[in-house]
Amino acid sequence: NQAKQGKKFIDWYSPDLEEKMAWRLGLIRQLRQDFEQGKLEVWYQPQLSLDTLAVIGCEALLRWPSGNGRYISPAIFVPLAEDAGLIVDIGQWVLEQACQQQKQLVSVGLDISVAVNVSVPQFKVANYAQGVKNTLLAHQVDPKKIELEVTESVVMDEIGVVIDTLQELQEFGVEVAIDDFGTGFSSLSYLQKLPLARLKIDRAFIKDIPDNDSGAIADLVVSLGRHLGLKTIAEGVETQAQADLLKQLGCDEVQGFMYAKPMPSHELMDFLKNYKP
Ligand code: C2E
Ligand code: MG
Ligand code: MG
Ligand code: MG
Repeated sequence: NQAKQGKKFIDWYSPDLEEKMAWRLGLIRQLRQDFEQGKLEVWYQPQLSLDTLAVIGCEALLRWPSGNGRYISPAIFVPLAEDAGLIVDIGQWVLEQACQQQKQLVSVGLDISVAVNVSVPQFKVANYAQGVKNTLLAHQVDPKKIELEVTESVVMDEIGVVIDTLQELQEFGVEVAIDDFGTGFSSLSYLQKLPLARLKIDRAFIKDIPDNDSGAIADLVVSLGRHLGLKTIAEGVETQAQADLLKQLGCDEVQGFMYAKPMPSHELMDFLKNYKP
């Protein structure tokens, strides 16, 4: 049997793969080192009410500088950090940054919420909800002003535990949004069971508007949200045509390059001070 497995391994082995694994390991090592040395950044992207165009919140987004003003995309390094078990510590740090940012916003009279992305491994840590509560208490931030964004992959993972965790967070005042909604191909039945505040329509369903029937999924998500009593927010809004259609559909909120790109904390403060709807 061992010999068989050995043969299988040899079939499967390739120099390409070895190169790829070495590249991944190198990247993970660098990420761990840069995180420990405080080199990661958290940027913020405004979220607006589609009706009034007032800024109602912002999303915290990780940035990993790679020198010369360039950044490695979180779409690449967040999955690596998840596999390497680094995302738990990094995620905790992001939450703390978000708390500090929210307090800074309050201090200048801008009491808007800060949304934080949460990965599956973070959710799996024992007493995750209690950990979040402790962090918010330690920073003396209003729980209603911190929102968590989880994907369908979090939701589909041990639904019983997830319901309890979200319930505990909701009772404390923290709101939860389903991120990238519609891309996870998960059963819709979970939606009624979970204490949620928002559905975030994935950019994939926004980007082709107004071509073809591309507004169909956005339409569906907005009416689903309305029936379930959830707010809907569209991500990746880049054009007026997209905004117009979303408004017509009754979508509540928007986030996208058309309004503002993600930016460092000090730029966010400047942006908000000068912003007029
Ligand atoms: P996400 O949570 O769905 O975040 C929205 C992404 O869409 C961000 O990409 C944002 O920059 C981008 N975006 C917003 N508006 C537009 C637009 O109008 N056009 C285009 N082309 N893109 C737009 P970003 O910052 O590269 O982040 C990618 C993903 O990485 C996030 O997707 C999230 O899944 C993950 N991520 C980022 N920060 C964190 C974090 O702190 N923790 C965890 N667990 N994941 C994170
Ligand atoms: Mg998000
Ligand atoms: Mg998203
Ligand atoms: Mg997305």
